[in-house]
Amino acid sequence: MFDKKNITDIDVKGKKVLVRVDFNVPIKEGKIKDDTRMTAALPTINYLLEHGAAVILFSHLGRPKDEPDPQFSLAPVAEHLATLIPNKVNFAEDCIGEVAEAASARLQPGEVLVLENTRFYKAEKKNDPDMAMKFAKLADIYVNDAFGSAHRAHASTEGVAHHLPAVAGFLMEKEIRYLGQAIADPARPFVAILGGAKISDKIGVIDNLLQKADAVLIGGGMANTFLKAQGFEMADSLVEEDAVQTAKELLAKGGDKLHLPIDLVLGNAFDNDAESKVTDVENVPAGWRVLDIGPASVEDYAKVISEAGTVVWNGPMGVFEMPKFAKGTFGVAEAVAASESVSIIGGGDSVSAINQSGLSEKVTHISTGGGASLEMLEGKILPGLAALQDK
Ligand code: AMP
Repeated sequence: MFDKKNITDIDVKGKKVLVRVDFNVPIKEGKIKDDTRMTAALPTINYLLEHGAAVILFSHLGRPKDEPDPQFSLAPVAEHLATLIPNKVNFAEDCIGEVAEAASARLQPGEVLVLENTRFYKAEKKNDPDMAMKFAKLADIYVNDAFGSAHRAHASTEGVAHHLPAVAGFLMEKEIRYLGQAIADPARPFVAILGGAKISDKIGVIDNLLQKADAVLIGGGMANTFLKAQGFEMADSLVEEDAVQTAKELLAKGGDKLHLPIDLVLGNAFDNDAESKVTDVENVPAGWRVLDIGPASVEDYAKVISEAGTVVWNGPMGVFEMPKFAKGTFGVAEAVAASESVSIIGGGDSVSAINQSGLSEKVTHISTGGGASLEMLEGKILPGLAALQDK
């Protein structure tokens, strides 16, 4: 199933190992607000350190405008990492060139060096070969543990892998194993739950899952476009008019597999203080908008989920940021947690919902990569994974 070499397949003792991590964490006033992505990379980092490697970590952070910007510095990340491991953590104010090379040359086995944001250079996103070579100059071995960035072919996630022995880290392997297994050989019934604002972002995913899964449960704003395609009036709801035709085609293709809400929670404004009411799908009056799936839909979806062998969930069922319209999302979270299935949750919002409900322990796997997990569910090859050495 997982056919790439990992860090246990190579000798790392005394080597400089350049590890692409996904340390794109939320930072406020210099403090890390959520270090999930950092702790997820610790098994790889610790393994390398314990086996005598000098570890160089590099990552993007946020969306700087292709030039150095202190707002997006990884310095606070390096500081935070020093609180998570006992080893010495150094920081280099550049990710390539003289500063990075000198810091790498000084680095001792058992020590860590965190490089500055890779996206301070335009060449990173362009997968510029020269930038890839400059990264490669820093180390003897390349490890990709950044599952969350594996769907991007950038110099740090793809290009550099062509210039050094390149293998997977433990997080990368774990993510690919869970998602790969779910898609290729799921315990059945295989139930996919898809939500979020827009159908247009997830057409490829829905299409692929309609072939692979036994049931696809739809919620969130994207359900509105499907309901509109079925001829229901959606009044002031978010509807993607130019995706209605695609929704019709997916409905025809999906047949009984595709489940839509049977009732809805409406609001008379996009506001938690809005007046709200529950209706069935044929009664969305003028002046109202759909902001969540209704209680009967939650019950319907919960029944399908309770019988599942595998559940994959990406995207909220409603505007869950507003408590008045969060019941659908939290109801689905409870159903997933209560089921005996292999359950995999990806995408920032659904992960945040399961964490908020305190049920994350009951889920088999919480993915650190929203975009990457969606591309896997779509059946796409991840360039960051493809570039690694085969077993
Ligand atoms: P996405 O980034 O596509 O996964 O969408 C997540 C966003 O969709 C969340 O911020 C939700 O508030 C929003 N959302 C979910 N359901 C609805 C809805 N019925 N109307 C408007 N926005 C929604």
